Amino acid sequence: MARSSTKKFHEKSRDERLKAVKSFARLSNKDIEILKSSGGISFAEANHMVENVIGTLSFPLGIATNFRINGKDYLIPMVIEESSVIAAASKAAKIARKHGGFVMESDESYSIGQIQLVDVDVRSAIPKITKASKKILSLANSKSKTLSRMNKGAKKITCKKLETKSGTMLIVEILVDVGDAMGANVTNTMCEGVAPLIEEITGGRAILKILSNYSTKRLVRGRAVFDKEEVGGTHVVNNIIHAYHFAANDPYRAVTHNKGVMNGIIAVANSTGQDTRAIEAAAHAFASKDKRYTSLTRWKKDKQGNLVGDIEVPMPVGIVGGIVNVHPMIKVCTKILGTNSAKELGCVIGAVGLAQNFSAIRALASEGIQKGHMKLHAKNIAASAGVPKNKIHEIVSRMVKENNVSVTRAREILKEL
Ligand code: NAD
Repeated sequence: MARSSTKKFHEKSRDERLKAVKSFARLSNKDIEILKSSGGISFAEANHMVENVIGTLSFPLGIATNFRINGKDYLIPMVIEESSVIAAASKAAKIARKHGGFVMESDESYSIGQIQLVDVDVRSAIPKITKASKKILSLANSKSKTLSRMNKGAKKITCKKLETKSGTMLIVEILVDVGDAMGANVTNTMCEGVAPLIEEITGGRAILKILSNYSTKRLVRGRAVFDKEEVGGTHVVNNIIHAYHFAANDPYRAVTHNKGVMNGIIAVANSTGQDTRAIEAAAHAFASKDKRYTSLTRWKKDKQGNLVGDIEVPMPVGIVGGIVNVHPMIKVCTKILGTNSAKELGCVIGAVGLAQNFSAIRALASEGIQKGHMKLHAKNIAASAGVPKNKIHEIVSRMVKENNVSVTRAREILKEL
């Protein structure tokens, strides 16, 4: 198996990087052509995807190196506009490798569909639904031959009573094993498909029939051990644990802590064509599951004093459906990643979230985040100040040295030069 710890990947030229990725993931020349194109979709393709299209907009696609997850090496495509994130993920993965990398696991891919019933006698409706659940499940499953053939699909019906300002409601929930899809469309189709039967059984009136994006039945969780010496010594390990307890106990810190986790999660979700809004919404709701918003990760020390990180987060992702098998660049990214199931993809994304969180809190708990961040950010600042390419390096170095990174300073130095 090829190793993901490609030496000095960041110092390579674009062609050398592409060569390394091509050999790692056995890409074709056509795949390389797609990677070299400027974004992946034509106007016509974009115009099919959404409405009122006038163009397309591309973002940087980079590769995080060094990842080993459940004993398998991955080069991880990440699409993100924020500097430092890909370098930070790669660095964290390099440290985690020393103790075997990330150990991740995923629940089955269960989505939850909800049917809202009003004008209903909840007490008598619940036993009727329970009695008819086989019939309801069978009708739901008739809506997806593919899932039924795979022995997946709708598996369970549950009911819950809601007291609201507009009266008592009955919420009927369908648990659907969506296999390797994200599953929103199939779940929505099933909900709409069974709603008339549920109305008939209960005498109620169905209003909403839709997937819940609070994907609590498809969590990924996992752990990595970060060697105390590589982290920066016991002092830094202790500081990281202090930083974690800050996030665990203060929502103002936790939101930023989790934003770091999402830097990793969303960048991989972008490169693999996922519904990032669904992932974000579920993650933040999950962070509040104990009635107070808190950290999505947990940090502690092991007996040897190494830093141990844990993550648990909902992961509604798919390797089929949506734009996954449509967008040419995403198809190549999926090939680079080499994941064979939605569960495997979820494990990879969760691992990158943990890695990202490690690097962010390590920087914060040691030298601070701005040093590394500003160096990369300074390049963008210099470019936006109109600095010509051949002067960027010099101006960036001076701004960083002076600890004064701004458009104004970039222009001043340019004038001096
Ligand atoms: P989809 O409908 O495009 O594809 C899923 C289908 O793929 C399944 O119904 C099944 O027929 C087929 N399939 C083939 N092989 C499969 C396998 N191995 N496992 C499972 N299914 C397989 O997509 P989807 O996953 O149902 O929905 C995802 C899309 O829906 C995303 O684009 C998302 O943005 C969008 N969406 C999201 C929401 C939301 O609330 N988050 C709502 C509506 C739509």
